Amino acid sequence: MYGRLPGTSGQLVLAFEENMRYITDVHAHYDEAVFDKDRAEVLDSLHKEGVAFIINSGSEIPSSKRSVKLAEEYDYIFASVGVFPLEAETERGGGYPDWLKEIERLSGHEKTVAIGEIGLDYRMIDEASDKDAYKRAQKEVFAAQIELSKRLLLPVVIHSCEADEDLLSMLDAHPCIGMIHRYYCMQDCGRELLDRGFYIGIGPQITYPGSERLTDIVKEMPPELMLLETDAPFLPNYPLEGRATSAMIEEVCRRIAEIRGDMTPEEAAVCAMENAKRLFGIA
Ligand SMILES: [Zn+2]
Repeated sequence: MYGRLPGTSGQLVLAFEENMRYITDVHAHYDEAVFDKDRAEVLDSLHKEGVAFIINSGSEIPSSKRSVKLAEEYDYIFASVGVFPLEAETERGGGYPDWLKEIERLSGHEKTVAIGEIGLDYRMIDEASDKDAYKRAQKEVFAAQIELSKRLLLPVVIHSCEADEDLLSMLDAHPCIGMIHRYYCMQDCGRELLDRGFYIGIGPQITYPGSERLTDIVKEMPPELMLLETDAPFLPNYPLEGRATSAMIEEVCRRIAEIRGDMTPEEAAVCAMENAKRLFGIA
């Protein structure tokens, strides 16, 4: 019923212009305050327009709880729970000394499909008084959550900024399965990650001028490792006006089709949906 996947011949039966029923957004933050005024309206309209499913991501304990709550309220929303690298110290040393237990508890929810977003982010390292301790804290929090994901048989959602080398050595020490989110933030380890079987999320950044690195990875990646994400409400499509929502994925699919030349926008959407179902175990 979904038509044919890339690489096969034949006609797709989708009417993409009228119906986005095959759009998936595997990374969004609809729990953010910027949606407080019209969250229900936005989410209802996306689903009516045919967005198949959304994974709402936590970045620390409170947003992980909110993600699970949203997943309870909406059939087509799933949750990802985890502690983001820039929150490594605040969560651990601050209000949540039992943060890992709390993440494990939230992971047990029937609609939690991943541990994330987790990873390494060295953008603020110059502000740290002890750079080694700063990195160590992030690595410990990351490693503990990777190990949890393996124990619970859940994939990870990785956020990594300016930390390619350490990311690869962490993944050597803690092999796992999952996806790379916000790939454009990384330096140059896309091929290594694809070789390790990581899925890569492609989002609105593909519409930005100067997105060559992202364009290159879109050209090169095997279709079976492609996912679609927005990081809504952050980073809307070019020219970066207003909030991002999952509706922007439609334009992302058009760009992917243009860049690759071997699939239509509809095929990109269907392919990414099938990949997301497989990775996150969504029926
Ligand atoms: Zn995010």
